[in-house]
Amino acid sequence: MDNRLGNQKSIAQSAIERETLEHIETLVRSNIKPLEVVPTSEEDLEIVREATLKINENLRYHRLPETLLSTSPKIVMARDGRIVVNSMTQKTRQVEGMTLWFSDEILLGDQLRKDPSFYKHVVVHEGWHKISDQSPRVVHATGDFFAYLQTGLHRQRVNQSAQRISQHFWGLNEAITEKLTIETLREGIKGLEYAGYTHERMVLDNILDKLSSNNLGEREALWHVFVHGYINGDYSFLTDLDRFFGQGALRVLAKLPPIQRDGTGLAFRVGEYFSTQTTDSERLKIRDEIFQEPSGPITIIGGKIHR
Ligand SMILES: [Zn+2]
Repeated sequence: MDNRLGNQKSIAQSAIERETLEHIETLVRSNIKPLEVVPTSEEDLEIVREATLKINENLRYHRLPETLLSTSPKIVMARDGRIVVNSMTQKTRQVEGMTLWFSDEILLGDQLRKDPSFYKHVVVHEGWHKISDQSPRVVHATGDFFAYLQTGLHRQRVNQSAQRISQHFWGLNEAITEKLTIETLREGIKGLEYAGYTHERMVLDNILDKLSSNNLGEREALWHVFVHGYINGDYSFLTDLDRFFGQGALRVLAKLPPIQRDGTGLAFRVGEYFSTQTTDSERLKIRDEIFQEPSGPITIIGGKIHR
């Protein structure tokens, strides 16, 4: 069979895809910058080394290759966590930690130095973001090109101006990241003092409970499956969701925002949807309400802001 024509087309397409991604990469890289970079100290590097060792132990526990994090991630310290989030408008904000797309660096705020335990917690959390799937993809839709920027399961669709058009599985991704962070540090009650994303983790735990109670596997084995999907950016482990919670459950979960970034109460309605107390008919009602919501405003993005 002669498929040369097909090959030529795909070569042309992949050239455009590469160009589109390079263009988006340039825009994204120019957006997020520390207001002032602080030199890293030996103490900073020691915390990152400790965090790396702990993450590697937990990778072994999940039967994942330690090579995912064979060396400590590079860090950039921003004075007081102050960063410019939009180089055009010079808009700034304060962060504790951030993973950056198209970069092997983790950005940290130097205010973390005041609390070494919390510092380590943030580095482990960002470390998991760094080693979970980070593969950008370009897709074509009716003559337009879009890119998907991915962090674990969190997928943002951006246009050619690097403006965010939509995003999915942000809350779920943070829930898995934070659950892994708590598991990695295993510091008992003291460690829980620093644990975040409580609401998002509750949604995740309710899902794990429901799936394991339906004989889809032991809870711990199921959790391993979730973590593998998160690391590989493979959503197939979620395909049973509609079967057990009702049609549309996967789309409802995709909408869960991190609670701190949600001004609409959506996070609570998604939480209610997945609650073990909620009946099937209540679920249908919540689902329909959620999908009547208009989508949020378009914003220019540059990285993945944590907390
Ligand atoms: Zn995060």
